[in-house]
Amino acid sequence: MSTPVTLETIRSAPKVLLHDHLDGGLRPATVVDLAREVGYTGLPTTDPAELGEWFAAAADSGSLERYLETFAHTVGVMGTREALARVAAEAAEDLAADGVVYAEVRYAPELFTDRGMSLDEIVEAVQEGFREGERRAAEAGRRIRIGTLLCGMRQNDRAWEIANLAVRHRDAGVVGFDIAGPEAGFPPTRNLDAFEYLRRENAHFTIHAGEAFGLPSIWEAIQHCGAERLGHGVRIVDDIEVGEDGEARLGRLASYVRDRRIPLEMCPTSNIQTGAAPSIAEHPIGLLARLRFRVTVNTDNRLMSHCTLSSEFAALVEAFGYGWADLQWFTVNAMKSSFLGFDERLRLINDVIKPGYAKLMA
Ligand SMILES: [Zn+2]
Repeated sequence: MSTPVTLETIRSAPKVLLHDHLDGGLRPATVVDLAREVGYTGLPTTDPAELGEWFAAAADSGSLERYLETFAHTVGVMGTREALARVAAEAAEDLAADGVVYAEVRYAPELFTDRGMSLDEIVEAVQEGFREGERRAAEAGRRIRIGTLLCGMRQNDRAWEIANLAVRHRDAGVVGFDIAGPEAGFPPTRNLDAFEYLRRENAHFTIHAGEAFGLPSIWEAIQHCGAERLGHGVRIVDDIEVGEDGEARLGRLASYVRDRRIPLEMCPTSNIQTGAAPSIAEHPIGLLARLRFRVTVNTDNRLMSHCTLSSEFAALVEAFGYGWADLQWFTVNAMKSSFLGFDERLRLINDVIKPGYAKLMA
C-alpha cells in the first residue's frame, strides 16, 4: 500500500531544485530585521505577517511594476556581509526543512555593491551563509547540499565580468552561471563574450529564455550561446502543435530540445504570476512532461510566489493527477541536469532519491 500523495508526505520526499533566486526567497521576518539593521525605510509595513501577504499580493497583481518593487525591497536590505550570509543560511535551512536534498540557488552579485562590498566579498559572504545553513540543517537531521549560480543582469552588460567571477569561485561552491532580467530587447547573444569565455573554461551555464519572450530567445540561447539548460523555456510549446486527436507534432527546435535532453527549469506558479501561463492546469508543463521533455519543477521566488518546492509538486499532483513515480521522475530529471559533478549526481540518485521514493511507493 503506497503512501498517499499529500502536501505533508511530499515534504518528506527527497527533492531537487535547480531554479531558485536568493533575493526571491527571504523570510518576511528577516526582511523586517534586516531593514532595521541596515536603515532601509522603504518597506510597506514592518509587521512580518502583513509583509508576507503584501509580497504575495504584489507579485499576484498582474502589474510588472509592483512585481519588480518586491525585489527592490529584498535587494535593498541584503547589501551587507552579515545580511547576505544570514539570507543564504536561512535559505539552506528552509529548503532542507522542505525536504530538498540538493538545490542550486542563484543571485546577481552586481545588485549588492551599493554599500561598498566588492563582487568577490559578496560571493564569499553568500558561500559562508550556505555552508552555515547546511551545517544547521545537518544538526536538525536534514542533509542538504547547495550549489550556487551567479547571474549577470541582461540590462547591465556586466555578464563577462560575472562569468569571470563564477569561474574564480568554481572550487568554492559556485557551480554555474546564468543571465536574468528583462528578456525582450535583451537577446542572449548580447552576452556572447561571456558564454564563449565560459565554454573555453569548461564551465556550466543556463540561460533564462522562453519565459516572457518566444522561440527566437530559446533558439539563440541554445544554438548561439550554448546554454546547457533553459530557465523556464515555457514558450517551447509554441513549436508544438497538438491535433484534435491529441497527437503532438514537434517543430525542429522543439525536437532538438527534446532529442538533446535539454533540461527545462519550469516554475509553474511564477509563470502564472508573470502571465507566461494562465493556470496550473493549463500550464505547458503537463504537455511537455507527457511528451517526455527533460522537465524539472522549480520555485523561482518562494517569497513572492508564496510557495515551496513541495507546494509546487502538490499543485501539479492536483492538476494532473501525478503519483510518486512522476514526482520521482521530475526529481531524477533535476538531479541528472544539475551542474554538480557526475559522481555526486549519481550518488544522490542512487543513495538518496531512489531509496526515498521506493519507501513511499512500497
Ligand atoms: Zn528565474
